[in-house]
Amino acid sequence: MAPAPPPAASFSPSEVQRRLAAGACWVRRGARLYDLTSFVRHHPGGEQLLRARAGQDIGADLDGPPHRHSANARRWLEEYYVGELQGDPQGSTETEAIASGETQETDSAIEPRFEAVDWDKDLVDWQKPLLWQVGHLGDKYDEWVHQPVTRPIRLFHSDLIEALSKTVWYSVPIIWVPLVLYLSWSYYRTLAQGNVRLFTSFTTEYSVQVPGSVFPGLFMLGMFLWSFLEYIIHRFLFHMKPPSDSCYLIMLHFVLHGQHHKAPFDGSRLVFPPVPASLVIACIYTLLRLILPEAVGGTVFAGGLLGYVLYDMTHYYLHFGSPHKGSYLYSMKTYHVKHHFAHQKSGFGISSKLWDYFFHTLILEEPHPKTQ
Ligand SMILES: [Zn+2]
Ligand SMILES: [Zn+2]
Ligand SMILES: [Zn+2]
Repeated sequence: MAPAPPPAASFSPSEVQRRLAAGACWVRRGARLYDLTSFVRHHPGGEQLLRARAGQDIGADLDGPPHRHSANARRWLEEYYVGELQGDPQGSTETEAIASGETQETDSAIEPRFEAVDWDKDLVDWQKPLLWQVGHLGDKYDEWVHQPVTRPIRLFHSDLIEALSKTVWYSVPIIWVPLVLYLSWSYYRTLAQGNVRLFTSFTTEYSVQVPGSVFPGLFMLGMFLWSFLEYIIHRFLFHMKPPSDSCYLIMLHFVLHGQHHKAPFDGSRLVFPPVPASLVIACIYTLLRLILPEAVGGTVFAGGLLGYVLYDMTHYYLHFGSPHKGSYLYSMKTYHVKHHFAHQKSGFGISSKLWDYFFHTLILEEPHPKTQ
């Protein structure tokens, strides 16, 4: 049985108008009102598209074309529910339904209503830190973690550990870009001296001299290799399905990526924290230095590191930025939101779709024609 709807506030058309005039973005679906003001910038279909709907009924837009909104998107919308519109929205039968108190039945007759997340009935207690709780969700974890919510996540009980577990996005370029510049400069100088040779460990006779002019190529190779690593990490590490009987693997999955899918607009844990990142980065550096001459491996590494910084910044921007319709980032944002809301087993590319093409995990465009 569906839980009784919470007592709803009601707003007269003039009250709604006043809020619209004050710049708020309220929309309605039948008589149900939603305040999307804090969401417009995040809207995957673009901010402008949503602002243009302010004050209007978005029922038809939810079904598209151009885009049929996912079940998660509809559930998400319910989190912005503020109350009912009084009076006659459009002279439709909905009015009588409201008058006789039958709004619920009318809505569910049209299509299944998505319940807003009932914070008191969710599988976890949102008043308490989540990490330990999600470890015990067992086989319910996978479905739960893929139903995104608007509220931020608290992982730990301790304020200190909680604060340390968060990373502001700009710490990534502040820490890593100077290292990229320093390494690039020093390895370029080494290469330019003309003393670097490849294959010296096999033979001194046929070793190949590496000229300084290959620096851009090696750097680009590093960026390219990163894009592959980005795909592999996201697909096979972040989206590894933890066994439901392993509390610790579920917790690990939640910390690594699950929390980001549960709360996609919690920006505090979106980029990779520098301390664990530096361990991974040090391993990759060591590996490259072992298999390639110092300046060659180092240049590839510098390119890869820049690729990583660009990836993390792109990811943050796809969540919080509002790219212009038609731009590359706009298409990547739409693509990434599909990964979050509807297609969690495909669409792993964040800075590009290249490896999704290659490994057949591309999220296909919707079949119906784009009309807007
Ligand atoms: Zn939309
Ligand atoms: Zn993901
Ligand atoms: Zn994301």
